[in-house]
Amino acid sequence: MKRLYTLLCIVMLLGIAVAVAPQDSQAFPVQEHVGEATASPSELISTSLEAALTILDESGAEGSTIVAAIHGANTIVAFEDELPPQFTAGGSAARYYPVENVISIGMDYRSADLHTLGAILAHEGTHVLDDRILNKPGSALDAEGAFEPYSCLARELDAFGAAVRYWDSIYPPTADNPRGGKPVVTNPVEMDNNNLLHAKSAQEENRQVRGIISRYLAPGSGCSMQKLPVDN
Ligand SMILES: [Zn+2]
Repeated sequence: MKRLYTLLCIVMLLGIAVAVAPQDSQAFPVQEHVGEATASPSELISTSLEAALTILDESGAEGSTIVAAIHGANTIVAFEDELPPQFTAGGSAARYYPVENVISIGMDYRSADLHTLGAILAHEGTHVLDDRILNKPGSALDAEGAFEPYSCLARELDAFGAAVRYWDSIYPPTADNPRGGKPVVTNPVEMDNNNLLHAKSAQEENRQVRGIISRYLAPGSGCSMQKLPVDN
């Protein structure tokens, strides 16, 4: 994904790149797209993730809304090894960088099931939808409310909710699998989505999301458990 890497460098170094890029540089057409509504989505999405985005798009109205948000916001979507090193997935399945508008997916998920990648994109794409399309107050881009403890939890409940509804559409209850969910799980994302799908109440789902957050986020970060309001 050298092209994606190049594009990111261009995003970060736009001022310098504009000054030094040769007139016949292949980078020019790409530069013109960066930050513009006319950018072609295919230039921003890793080819390794196109199939998963298509599955999410075709999963129903919510999935297609999320994919449209990713495309409409010109979000860069790639595995972390395709991105400059600062865009790590941070040891979790994936991470959304709100200011840079980048979704980075961790290497542990390189060979994950396409449906599992679809669930990851449903989660991270919901952050894009909330921040860049719906402009929800308290989003990571809202200077007033950025990373307020409750908005953090609310954002994660939005994102995990979208992922689990997608999961339900992919793995609905059947005669052989009466609870629904992926029958054999091979990674934490699949386990978490199954558990959320099997939650019996909104409170239980809320507790599970708080548990997942505490597993992945470092103390002191905007979403840390110390800052989250007490659940009831
Ligand atoms: Zn999230």
